[in-house]
Amino acid sequence: MAGEAPADCLFCKIIAGEVPATVVRETDTTFAFRDINPQAPAHILVIPKVHHPDAASLAAAEPQIAADVLREAGEVAAEEKLESYRLVFNTGSGAGQTVFHAHVHLLGGRGLQWPPG
Ligand code: IMP
Repeated sequence: MAGEAPADCLFCKIIAGEVPATVVRETDTTFAFRDINPQAPAHILVIPKVHHPDAASLAAAEPQIAADVLREAGEVAAEEKLESYRLVFNTGSGAGQTVFHAHVHLLGGRGLQWPPG
């Protein structure tokens, strides 16, 4: 079951075409677009079209769509020719989540340090 989307959800507006974005890929269930404030040469957000506030909520409610998001992240990485990359799910404001519509950050195109900050 999809969660109820807040009227002001930025990523719902991007999916609807109400806010412009640089779209990378789209499927029936997912949407991928370039982050407006890239932290790496390749920084792409992959999101479900249905609204859930974070990745764990999505996976609990609609595991097939959570799997779609992960598969799409891999497809984008292949299209971007990234041999190594990082997938990040910030969850909660203390971890840096600022948009409460589930999304995964795909980061690549430079060396990535571990542990992250
Ligand atoms: P979070 O901090 O994990 O919630 O990630 C949200 C991401 O959305 C941040 O990396 C922002 O730079 C990005 N972002 C915010 N507004 C836009 C936009 O309008 N287009 C594309 N990316 C955005």
